[in-house]
Amino acid sequence: MALIVQKFGGSSVADIDRIRNVANRVAEYRRRGDQVVVVVSAMKGVTDNLIEMAKSLMPVPSEREMDMLLSTGEQTTIALLAIALQSMDIPAASLTGAQAGIVTDGVHSKAKIRNITPRKIHALLDAGNVTIVAGFQGETSEGHITTLGRGGSDLTAIALASALKADLCQIYTDVDGVYTSDPRIVPTAKKLEEVSYDEMLELASLGAKVMQSRSVEFAKKFGVIFEVRSSLNDNPGTLVKEETQSMEGVVIRGVSLDKNQAKITLVGVPDEPGMAARVFQQLADSTINVDMIVQNVSHGSDTPATDLSFTIDKPDMARAQTVIDGLRDNINFVDVLADENIGKLSIVGVGMRSHSGIAAKVFEVLAGAGVNIQMISTSEIKISVVIGIEKAEEATRAVHDAFLD
Ligand code: ADP
Ligand code: ASP
Ligand code: MG
Repeated sequence: MALIVQKFGGSSVADIDRIRNVANRVAEYRRRGDQVVVVVSAMKGVTDNLIEMAKSLMPVPSEREMDMLLSTGEQTTIALLAIALQSMDIPAASLTGAQAGIVTDGVHSKAKIRNITPRKIHALLDAGNVTIVAGFQGETSEGHITTLGRGGSDLTAIALASALKADLCQIYTDVDGVYTSDPRIVPTAKKLEEVSYDEMLELASLGAKVMQSRSVEFAKKFGVIFEVRSSLNDNPGTLVKEETQSMEGVVIRGVSLDKNQAKITLVGVPDEPGMAARVFQQLADSTINVDMIVQNVSHGSDTPATDLSFTIDKPDMARAQTVIDGLRDNINFVDVLADENIGKLSIVGVGMRSHSGIAAKVFEVLAGAGVNIQMISTSEIKISVVIGIEKAEEATRAVHDAFLD
């Protein structure tokens, strides 16, 4: 008898027919005698709808109430799936994140899991139930409901697989695995049989939303091997695991595009020690993640000044602007420019460590496609460029096909 954690994303539970389809798949495993813990997301579009409704009342709603609101999406699905299973004579019971023993820190909307005490899950499994846990949510030790960041049901599944020492962790979605690029943007993308944690982590944090990046980080830290596969067919999926030697032979594993970033430029920041520290400390204090940072060469000789550009997640834009307005009196910058029309295109592969010339080739392909590069950043295994949104998808296809077709 194996203990299996299965996670079904929003598109897999998008309507009653899909929920029935999920129940059939879960039932198959249960009937074989396996113990099954199921993690589900909200039905497709529900979380976005809830956010929209709240924002129509107030542009920056309180984060505590947002978490209270968003956690209801998953709570609907767990109960519907339990009912679907019970209708098939499969004993099933649902639990919210808090009931499942998921304790987080208090950072609303992007809480980190502190610990999991899966006592109730074990009790329900031992009594023969399929146990269904609401993804994306937990509670603080003081009992406040929190959420784990967009796409956070992936993290719930991986963290539960680790806490329960599951034999198998399956992430079911609407594609049958991890591809060399988003198949919706790049029709020539190919499915990967396996991918290392580091590559998956880079791809995910750079826009491949097939897995939430924090869930991959967690899997790597605790050695949770997982499979990404489709809830709509039985095709073999993609195995995500520790790097093997054969993986290093592949220079480029994938190309991703993140359209969820925005760029802020502070124009004419006095070129003095401590300026960058002040800006980024204030942003950090407001839990705004900053990704790429570029500081220009300073200009002006009497009172030298510089331009400072950085990227943040688009949903953090309103809060970032409030932070920057608050800095105006403190730092005498001349102007603030905000640009939400950008895309971050990245190319990833562990083999890049031992190969040169990749950056040059990326720049050449972009030049050939008439794409202007606004920012560049690199690490051992990735190259990222910020480009205008209007040509971002075309550029992704061009770069993908130059390296991977
Ligand atoms: P779920 O609702 O199951 O959590 P998501 O919408 O979060 O599913 O993630 C699945 C989507 O991720 C796919 O439909 C696909 O368009 C997108 N995607 C982006 N990059 C990739 C990639 N490299 N491989 C596979 N899918 C990708
Ligand atoms: N429902 C949440 C979201 O849309 C969490 C998830 O789907 O994983 O982000
Ligand atoms: Mg997802």
